[in-house]
Amino acid sequence: AASGGPIEWDGTGRTSDGHRVKVLGNVGAPADAHAAADTGAEGVGLFRTEFCYLDAADEPTIAEQRKAYTAVLEPFRGKPVIVRTLDAGADKPLAFLAQETEPNPALGVRGVRVAFDRPDLLDRQLEAIAGAAADSGADVSVMAPMVATAEEAGWFAERVRAAGIARAGVMIEVPAAALTAREVLDAVDFVSIGTNDLAQYTFAADRQLGAVATLNDPWQPGLLRLIGLVGDAARETGKPAGVCGEAAADPLLAKVLAGLGITSLSMNAASVRAVGASLATATLADCERAARAALAAPTAAQARVAAREA
Ligand code: PEP
Ligand code: MG
Repeated sequence: AASGGPIEWDGTGRTSDGHRVKVLGNVGAPADAHAAADTGAEGVGLFRTEFCYLDAADEPTIAEQRKAYTAVLEPFRGKPVIVRTLDAGADKPLAFLAQETEPNPALGVRGVRVAFDRPDLLDRQLEAIAGAAADSGADVSVMAPMVATAEEAGWFAERVRAAGIARAGVMIEVPAAALTAREVLDAVDFVSIGTNDLAQYTFAADRQLGAVATLNDPWQPGLLRLIGLVGDAARETGKPAGVCGEAAADPLLAKVLAGLGITSLSMNAASVRAVGASLATATLADCERAARAALAAPTAAQARVAAREA
């Protein structure tokens, strides 16, 4: 707030006319989970499970994984938590997964693609997640990273259900998955857009490279149009579509995303209250007007201005 005082938010994500958009936390370890719960996040939209594996020379046992996940889920008893299966490869190499050297790791065997070669690894993780759900009492869903097609989404959902987990979803991080969002949603229970990778792959611009950061701006109309396709598919199917990349943490962009049909926003704990408060200042019709203005803008900078004016 301009006054520097605490941000007023009642803890339920919704527009001023009551349209629900859940405000959730991104977490990767117990400390983040407590921070997200303490600031009032309604649940977790992205639990990055890599933390449990990062320093491991060998694959953690099912019991070790179950204990580590339970420690993260515990603050969210009775609340929705989306656990993401292992997202290894590219910017997140793992010591115990001896991956072949690839000329283009960002385009290689990463994310869910590791599980196609090693389904046993996925099944052990799913068993640990199901156990942690029972131990913590959190309302757990599971999603896969780096899914490119509806066929891959269906393969993943089948394995999740076989593990006894009620809801299976996938991340939309590859442009092809956004373009076929309708078919992807038909294969799963929900999707969540990872705008960090979706921007990287849409603009062919490395997300870790400062020199191309202007292309990775989440206000780029090219990215917003892809998000809009996913929002349209969510409306058609009546299934949830969240955003869990950095874009979700921008209070003005949050309104645009709500107007594009996004049903939940997941972010770092520090942004939760500002985003919740921002959503409460606009009606859904205001958000839709801002979304149309941003989509029609020729540049990212003009999209910001157009959304603010709308
Ligand atoms: C993303 O790609 O936007 C995302 C949320 O996943 P990560 O940042 O872990 O790749
Ligand atoms: Mg990603």
